[in-house]
Amino acid sequence: MKMDINSIARPEIVAMKPYVSARNSAAADGILLNANEAPATHVNDPEWQRLSLNRYPPPQPALLRSRLAEMYSVDESRVLVTRGSDEGIDLLTRVFCRPGQDAMVECSPCFGMYRIAATIQGAQVIDVPRQAGNGFQIDFEKLKQAINEQDGVRLVFLTSPNNPTGDLVGRVQLEGVLKACEGKALVVLDEAYIEFCDAESASELVAEWTHLVVLRTLSKAWAAAGVRCGIVIADPAVIGLLQRVIAPYPLAATAIDAALQAISGDAVSREQEFVAEVRAGKMDLFEFLSGCDWISEVTQGEANFVLLRVADADGLVDWCAGRGIRIRNFTSQAQLEGCVRLTIGSADEMAALKLALQDYGEQA
Ligand SMILES: *Cc1c(COP(=O)(O)O)cnc(C)c1O
Repeated sequence: MKMDINSIARPEIVAMKPYVSARNSAAADGILLNANEAPATHVNDPEWQRLSLNRYPPPQPALLRSRLAEMYSVDESRVLVTRGSDEGIDLLTRVFCRPGQDAMVECSPCFGMYRIAATIQGAQVIDVPRQAGNGFQIDFEKLKQAINEQDGVRLVFLTSPNNPTGDLVGRVQLEGVLKACEGKALVVLDEAYIEFCDAESASELVAEWTHLVVLRTLSKAWAAAGVRCGIVIADPAVIGLLQRVIAPYPLAATAIDAALQAISGDAVSREQEFVAEVRAGKMDLFEFLSGCDWISEVTQGEANFVLLRVADADGLVDWCAGRGIRIRNFTSQAQLEGCVRLTIGSADEMAALKLALQDYGEQA
């Protein structure tokens, strides 16, 4: 389904004359006297020279972009590399939501950054809560109703697998939401954890649906959260608008270098091994947790974490902290009373966690 993206973007962004940086307006070879940088001869350090740290980095590094496009089986023109997915979320919100007028839709409990980005932008947050009693499934009928009936919806955030509930958005459901959003809003499918499950990514659907945006990241399965590398996969019209708003040089040269390392050579087989380890570790932990009678609910989910419900989440979090183990407390969020999220770590880390939980159960 093709859609005119400019008709739902903020008119002032569509009308704006974008900033043109030195690296965007001229080739980056030859004698570079167009960006007020220092010459390479100034710092005599091989690493500095290798990374050309005296120079501004490429705004969208060609090799990294093409490697990512290949990895996600999409055309390069549909790829924008960002400073983590967090930046992608922020850019989408800034380009598509007019302050005080437009709205985004989310299905809580979900990733907290969607709401933060919307609030900073002055966009309304419309929540269509999940059904806690029903495995935290999204109420798709209510979601479509909200999209149809509420004014100014520009973005709909879906997460598959979702954080912190671990559930997937099925293909049929996704297409239903896409149809409901036709002509009025983008559907943003955040696939930060998709590598950990068997479900197929929706990346390739972006070629079919102009108003579908898929977010990927190197922060989870690729073991590179410190690199801050996220990927927006979208129609070139969407990518073009985001490029009007993104900082001229969003990725440090060191980050570009590290991101390439994170996905090249041995890294690919390492990633597969890691994903297999996480899955085995999660099965093992799930079995252990199922035997703990003080845990009322365990949600295994499709990502690299499990969600528990206990009588005293604060007590459990403190107990673990006393052993130097940090787990995430969600108890203050709606529908997540008593919930904590445990990330699947290394075998040693899981052994330490199980020991702490065992002792907690014996004194609880
Ligand atoms: C961790 C996470 C991200 C990743 O964010 P980065 O900025 O790429 O590190 C995105 N979405 C969700 C739902 C997450 O849990």
